[in-house]
This record gives sequence, structure tokens and C-alpha cells, in this order.
Amino acid sequence: MASSPPRADLPDVAPTAQQDVARLASSQDVRSAFTWLRSQEPQLAQWQMEMARIAAPPFGESARAAWLAERFREVGLEDIRTDDVGNVFGVHRGLAQSGPAPETGLGQRYVALSAHIDTVFPASTPLNVRQQGSRLYGPGVSDNGAGVTAMLAIAASLHAVGLRHALPILFIGNVGEEGEGDLRGMRHIFSTPRWKDSIAYNVVLDGAGADTIVAEALGSRRFEVIVRGPGGHSWSDFGAPNPIVILARAIDTFTSTPLPASPKTTFNFGVIRGGTSVNSIPESASMKVDIRSTSMTEMERLEQTLRLALNRAVEDETMTAEMRSPLQKRPSGVHCEVVPIGNRPAGELAREARILHVIRAADAQLNNAAQIQRASTDANIPLSMGLEAIAIGGGGSGGGAHTLQEWFDSNGRELGLKRILLTMLALAGAGD
Ligand SMILES: [Zn+2]
Repeated sequence: MASSPPRADLPDVAPTAQQDVARLASSQDVRSAFTWLRSQEPQLAQWQMEMARIAAPPFGESARAAWLAERFREVGLEDIRTDDVGNVFGVHRGLAQSGPAPETGLGQRYVALSAHIDTVFPASTPLNVRQQGSRLYGPGVSDNGAGVTAMLAIAASLHAVGLRHALPILFIGNVGEEGEGDLRGMRHIFSTPRWKDSIAYNVVLDGAGADTIVAEALGSRRFEVIVRGPGGHSWSDFGAPNPIVILARAIDTFTSTPLPASPKTTFNFGVIRGGTSVNSIPESASMKVDIRSTSMTEMERLEQTLRLALNRAVEDETMTAEMRSPLQKRPSGVHCEVVPIGNRPAGELAREARILHVIRAADAQLNNAAQIQRASTDANIPLSMGLEAIAIGGGGSGGGAHTLQEWFDSNGRELGLKRILLTMLALAGAGD
């Protein structure tokens, strides 16, 4: 998850949301759940370390998914299943335990609590996971060890205390959030009729902390640009079009395009490669480009600008090459390819969205100061479809995400868990 500063000027929290949350927080059941959660920290740290020791690179999450399905069973969830792409599901019905389970076919609505199970680390990464006091160390221990552990803690508490709620709560360990995963797990869920029409609210747990609410989806488009030319000897073939020069020309044109300050829009040329030796005209060169915005229109405009800049660079370099080559050695064609390597849709939550009022009410109830942020998370998918979703942390604190020095500290985890529980129960209609 990458985030940027908060947006201001939100309306006051709706009184109904505040009342719902206050009523829940004072109920005996919820207080029992809070007490139960507080007693579970050793178990939570255990789960978190166990999970972090199972490699889960993009497109290689199945061992971790199997581990999670076992935990879902252990904490008493029902209807545990794994879908075609490897997402793991479990349900807490939350109704009276006696009698047959209610029909959960068409028309049934759910409140979803999800956490991605993949990491950025290749399968070969040494997973040296260890504990020192309240701190856990190891790759993925916070992102998303903190999120998955919080999800398990909530599921376990609902079952242990026997909490009731009107809408069933759907727990999801999803694949493919990081990098090249490109949100494939969430994309799959929200393209499946069974889920896309039945998930009323989706709370995404990503990383540690309790001080943010991601309510705006930062979109991104990523491309690899590959330019190929005839290549040749730097002396005897001088004049042939040079793919590196084409990229340089395109970057120059593209970077002189004005960008809007609002909606914030950015770009990056992150990787550039090409050529084989100092005295060879390269046969190919490539670069990777990242475009981000909260506005789909701005992303499309920038993509268009990139394509135009490349076309112009190819034309200019071809024309220059023709002018400097002797007639008999006119260079053969140049080929330019733009390959999309990432596409995260943008979107934002309506100011009146219930999910936003409920999480803010939970924060007010717990005296927790949290900021609204825009970021790129699993919530991009439901948000881009106009559905109600937020991304928040699993409590505690963490750092060094996406590095081998990653850590998580469980101080403050309790606050994060209370916040998630109150939000889920208020959304699911508990204590009525
Ligand atoms: Zn994450």
C-alpha cells in the first residue's frame, strides 16, 4: 500500500452511526469480546509468525492459503472454501445457534472483512521470523501479517463470545494484492456474480496501525515500453536509428507535459534498460513507466500523452537516421511496443457512505484520531465499482514494509482490534 495525505472537509458523523456504535460498545457481549481479545495476544503473535514462515510470493500463495483455511476451521467459521484463483473464504453467520442455517443463496447480503495473504518476496527469500518482547521481525510480518492476524482475531472473537449480527460476516484471505499480482484476487471476487452483488460493505485490513482510513482509491497504470531497431556497429552503421535515443526523446517530450495539482497525478520512469556494448548501436531498449492518479480521466490522458510522445520519438529518430545515412544504407524499420503491466482503477467513497460514518463513529467512540487517506489497496476494486469499501490497519505498529528488516509491534493492537470489531458489528447490524 502506498498512501498520500488526507483529504479534508468531511461532514459530521451521522448521529445514527454514532448511536449504533455507542450502544454496541456498552453491550455486555461486546465488552466480553474486548476482554477476550485482550487475552489472546500470545495466540495472535503465534499465528502471525507461523504465517510469515510460509512463503507467499505473487502467484505462489497456495501453501499460505491452505494454512489460512485450517485456521478459519479452527476459529469456527463455516462454508470454508477456496476459489479458482486461490482466495480463501469463511463465514460467520451470527444468528441464533439453534435450528437450521438460514438460506444463503441469492439475495443474501454479506459484510466482508478481507486481508491479502501475498507478499512481495520471491519464493527463495529466507524467512527468518523471530520475536523479541512485543516485537516480531521478518519479511511480511506486518504487511500483511498484521492484517491477516487481525482478521483471524475478529473471527475467533465472534465465535468465542457467540456474538450475534443480522448480516453474515464473510472473511476473505485474498491473493494477488502486491505488485505484479495487480489486485487479481479482489478483481476475481468482484467479477463473480455471487460476491459482487452480495457484498454490501468491504473492510480491507492491510498492514499495521489504527490511525488511517483509506477511503479514496489511488489508481495506477504501469507500462513496459520496448523499442527495437536494426542495431549495428557504432562506426560502420552510424546513422541507424537508436532505440535508446528514441526512449530519451520520448521521456523528454512526456516530462514537459503539464500535470494538474488536483486531482494529484504523478508519473515515474523507474527502470530503463538497453544495449549490449559501448560500440554497438542497440537492437533494443526498454523502460518501465508508472502513472498514478485518483482520477481515471487523468490516467487516461497521461497514457495517451505517453503513446503520442513515443510515436513522435520514433518518427523523429527515423527521419534523423534517414537524413544522416547514405542512400544505399537506408535503415530498416523501428518497432515500438507498449505493454500494460499494471492497471489499478481509481475511485472514491461518497461522503455520505455508511461505511465511512461507521468507522469514524468507532474512532470517536475509542478516542482514536485517524486520518482519511488515498492509497492503492485491495479496496480499489470495490471503490472503482461504486461499492462501499475502506482499507484500515490491523492495529499495533509496523515498519520496513517490503524489506527484509520488516517488523511489527503488538503495542496498540488491542485498539486496532476493538476498532475493527465495532465497525464490523455496526455494519452487520448487531445488538438490535
Ligand atoms: Zn499490504
